[in-house]
Amino acid sequence: MSFDLIVRGGTLPGGAVRDIGIAGYRIAAIEPRIDAKAAREVDATGNLVSPPFVDPHFHMDATLSYGIPRINASGTLLEGIALWGELKPLLTHEAVKQRALAYCDWAVSMGLLAIRSHVDVCDDRLLAVEALLEVRKEVAPFIDLQLVAFPQDGLYRSANARENTIRALDMGVEIVGGIPHFERTMSDGTRSVTDLCEIAAERGLMVDMHCDETDDPLSRHIEQLAYETRRLGLSGRVAGSHLTSMHSMDNYYVSKLLPLMAEAQVAAIPNPLINIMLQGRHDTFPKRRGLTRVKEMLAYGIRVGFGQDCVLDPWYSLGTADMLDVAFMGLHVAQMSHPDEMRRCFDMVTTESAAIMGLGDYGLAVGNKASLVILDAGDPVEALRLRAERLCVVAAGKVVAERTGQKTRLALPGRPDTVSRRHKA
Ligand SMILES: [Zn+2]
Repeated sequence: MSFDLIVRGGTLPGGAVRDIGIAGYRIAAIEPRIDAKAAREVDATGNLVSPPFVDPHFHMDATLSYGIPRINASGTLLEGIALWGELKPLLTHEAVKQRALAYCDWAVSMGLLAIRSHVDVCDDRLLAVEALLEVRKEVAPFIDLQLVAFPQDGLYRSANARENTIRALDMGVEIVGGIPHFERTMSDGTRSVTDLCEIAAERGLMVDMHCDETDDPLSRHIEQLAYETRRLGLSGRVAGSHLTSMHSMDNYYVSKLLPLMAEAQVAAIPNPLINIMLQGRHDTFPKRRGLTRVKEMLAYGIRVGFGQDCVLDPWYSLGTADMLDVAFMGLHVAQMSHPDEMRRCFDMVTTESAAIMGLGDYGLAVGNKASLVILDAGDPVEALRLRAERLCVVAAGKVVAERTGQKTRLALPGRPDTVSRRHKA
C-alpha cells in the first residue's frame, strides 16, 4: 500500500497510539505501526491526534466587524441586534467576503475545519448570502462550511424576511433558521417555528433555529420545535441553538420538555462564551448563569454540541476561533468537572457537533476524510486544561498549518532550561 502522508505515533482521543496513513484525501490505514514510507511524514509521538474541531453555531457574515460603526455599550443581545442593524446597510460584498476569509485562516490555524454559519437574510440585497456562498466554495477544499438562512430581525417582524429566507434557500443556502423569541408575540413565535419546519420538510432540509435565547422562563419555543420535528418526520435533522430560557424554567415543566426533545431527536447547541456574556443582564444578584441545562439534556440522551457563535462582532468583543476556549467555558459554567464529563466536553466540540452537522465522512477511521489536528497535549482533558497548541493541521490529506518553536526557555537558577505545562499524574 502506498501513502502520500503518514502521521506517526500519535495518541488518539481514546488512548491508543497509532500511525495514520493517508492516500489522496482519505485515511487509508490506522495501525500500531505502518511499515511503508510516504512522500511526507509527520511525527506526532507523545502528542494527541484528534479529528478536527467543529463549530456548529457561528455568524460568519458579522465576524471581525467589532467596532464598526460603534461598540455594543450595554453588552446585551438586543443592543447587539440593533447595532448589527446599523452595520448592515454599510456592508459590502467584498468586505464581508474578506473578513470571512480572514476568519477562515484563523480557523484553519486552530484546527477548526467544519463550521455551521448562520447568515442574515433580512437585508433585501442578500449580499452577505452571496458573499458567503462564494466563501463556502473557496474554502471547500479545507473547511466544511454549512450555511443557515437566518431571519435575524424576525420572520414576521421584519418586512420581506420570509420571502428572503426562501430566496436564500433557492440560492443554495442549505439549512432553515429562525428566531421565534424575537417575533412580536409568543404566538407569532410559535407560528414561525411551524412555518419554517414545514418549509424545511418540503425541501428535505435541516433546521437550526436560534431558540429561546432569553432569560424569560416562559419562552418555550423549543417545545413547538420538538413537536414539529416529530409531526413532520424531521427527527435527527433539527437543532435548537442557545435554549438559554431553559436555565430559568420551572423544573416540573422541564421534566416534561426533555423527554419530548429526546423522543424527537432534537439536538441542542449551547454557546457558552456568548451565553455567559449576554444572559442575566437584567438580573441584579443572585445573577443567573445564562447557560442551558447541558448535563440534564445529556442524561436524557439528547445530543449536545457547543458552538462559538461570535468572534469580534456586535455581540462579542473577544474570540480566537479556538473551540477549546468554548469547551473550557462550557465545562465551567455547566460544572462538568468529572473526568468523563470533561472528556464529553471535548467530544462536544468535535464528534458530537460533527454528528449534529451530519458530516458523513468525519472522524479518525479508515475511509473517512483525512482531516485531523495534532495537539501539544497527552489526551483530550489535558488539551482542554492547556487549551493546547495546534502543532499541525491536516485537511483532506494536506498539511495546511504547522506551528514551529513552541518551547519556552526558562532562566531560573537551579531549574530546567525549558518549561511545558503538560503533566502526567
Ligand atoms: Zn447565533
